[in-house]
Amino acid sequence: MSESLIANINNNHCCCCDKSNKNCYNDHHSCNCSESSKHCYEKAKEFNIITDESVLRKKCENITSENQKLAIECIDKLKHILSSLDHAVGLAAPQLGYNLKIFCMKYNNDILVVVNPVILKIIKPTKYLATSYEGCLSIPNKSYITIRHTKIQVRFQDENFKWQEKTFKNFDAYIFQHEYDHINGVLIKDHGEEIVFENENKIDTKEEKNLEQ
Ligand SMILES: [Zn+2]
Repeated sequence: MSESLIANINNNHCCCCDKSNKNCYNDHHSCNCSESSKHCYEKAKEFNIITDESVLRKKCENITSENQKLAIECIDKLKHILSSLDHAVGLAAPQLGYNLKIFCMKYNNDILVVVNPVILKIIKPTKYLATSYEGCLSIPNKSYITIRHTKIQVRFQDENFKWQEKTFKNFDAYIFQHEYDHINGVLIKDHGEEIVFENENKIDTKEEKNLEQ
């Protein structure tokens, strides 16, 4: 892991939970985040969330009047499952086996439905790229460091298929990019470096210091 990545870890959020990376990084695999994540992955199994890469790699189709009925069915399932997973923050159609450009994300204490999304503009320049520490319900029990844009302007249709434009920053922007990747067949393992924990125990301060050097 490069030094610059390590230096940035503590400043970002975890996509497994809503804690800052610092808390999550320190406590992962032995604390709330870990327990919640494990619990989440167990629940994900109950909902048959897809882990098969050959399914997850398929590029998704735009929603049109022709597949709108299927889109509505998919949206209902995404919302239901995401609201049942306390510590998950997003879920995309291909994770349920729908080859559609739809995802849901937790936003402003609600679930935002995103259909046919387009990233219009990267607002912050490249030097503001952030390292986001992310897990994925389709890649159980693994975490990756992923490079993300910190501020993006996007366009999408809401659950009533009305076009919206929004600007997302920081954690919301990371979630959006993670889910946007899903509908393009991209997974966090493609552009993230896996975080490997030597054991299940809490990383103590001394080890953390070493990591930061
Ligand atoms: Zn994911």
